[in-house]
Amino acid sequence: MSLHPLTLLFAAALLAALATRLWLATRQMRHVAAHRGLVPPAFASRVSLEAHQRAADYTVAKTRFGLLTGAFGTALLLGWTLLGGLDALNQWVGEAVMPNWGGLLYQLALLSAFVLIGAVFDLPFEWWRTFRIEQRFGFNRSTWRLFVADLLKSALVAAVLGLPLAALVLWLMASTGGWWWLWVWAAWTAFNLLILVVYPTLIAPLFNKFEPLRDETLAARVQTLMQRCGFAAKGLFVMDGSRRSAHGNAYFTGLGAAKRVVFFDTLLAALTPGEVEAVLAHELGHFKRRHVLKRMVAMFALSLAGLALLGWLASRSWFYTALGVSPNLAAPNDALALLLFALALPVFGFFVSPLAALLSRRHEFEADAYACAQANGADLASALIKLHQDNASTLTPDPVYVRFYYSHPPAGERLAALSPSPA
Ligand SMILES: [Zn+2]
Repeated sequence: MSLHPLTLLFAAALLAALATRLWLATRQMRHVAAHRGLVPPAFASRVSLEAHQRAADYTVAKTRFGLLTGAFGTALLLGWTLLGGLDALNQWVGEAVMPNWGGLLYQLALLSAFVLIGAVFDLPFEWWRTFRIEQRFGFNRSTWRLFVADLLKSALVAAVLGLPLAALVLWLMASTGGWWWLWVWAAWTAFNLLILVVYPTLIAPLFNKFEPLRDETLAARVQTLMQRCGFAAKGLFVMDGSRRSAHGNAYFTGLGAAKRVVFFDTLLAALTPGEVEAVLAHELGHFKRRHVLKRMVAMFALSLAGLALLGWLASRSWFYTALGVSPNLAAPNDALALLLFALALPVFGFFVSPLAALLSRRHEFEADAYACAQANGADLASALIKLHQDNASTLTPDPVYVRFYYSHPPAGERLAALSPSPA
């Protein structure tokens, strides 16, 4: 018996990714623990030793948990693919559903069953993260009831949005010939743009309350900033982020005229008006420097490339057999192809994630520079320190871990870039 090269490549990538994660997590935990005893000098006047140690403990707890979920995820992925899980599920759904319902419904049933099983496996981890780790460090505000309600609502939203999209994609794959991937890409792109429009007004309010920003002094200050930056938004909103978590945030959402600014109530509680303005100026910087647009274009280009690749792979029987699935003889294989692709691709994507993280960190520096030009740099610096403390983010991450994973530069690097360099 000889193994297909794709089998070997996939198995090797899976093991290499797991080993890399293990190595990085171990480095991070060691580094953070080694610097637990001393607040870095740049922060010594503003961060207490107690807060620094809490951040260290939180970071270690999260990293250790990430190791556990990563190892479990690898085992599950192996189970779905090379160990025959997806093959067994496909046969089971085929026997149960196919004779009565026909091709499209069988494929939708297969996709739904896969997503449902994944969610069930995910649930204990999500539970542990919320009610053990977040709880232990005082971040969790969610309750058992809210957790379950969120779960049911998310499942409903996923079904309402996901099933019609999946049906459309499967139909396009079956009926548009060799160029199906181009049609699917167009549908996928349109779907993403639609979500951008409906998310702030229809979906987000299912989970949180949004109220207009009542603080008039702050609202006036924010409006002035946005005018100065030439930015139009439909409104300023405060979101009850404190319902679930003590972590604070601010973001822009929507597209075109539907754009709105959302502040977490937790953010407003923690920051002074000047600091809120500086944080918002940073977010505006992401728009003004076209990071948001660039990210969207990159995402659409990548999905086009991915679908083109799948268009080629889906008609090759070795693509299925090499990843542990026997292709259907009497039924369409499109849902199987989509699932296998979604399972295998992230394994290879893991190795390019440092590049994405690098670009993201560059964007953060650019947005910080923009904020300094439009608002007060000292306010931004103190907001950064407060947010780091409130989120118990470590001030002393392992440099290699940062290069690999961090979408934001560590606080020390950001502060150094903010403060005017000595002459
Ligand atoms: Zn940013």
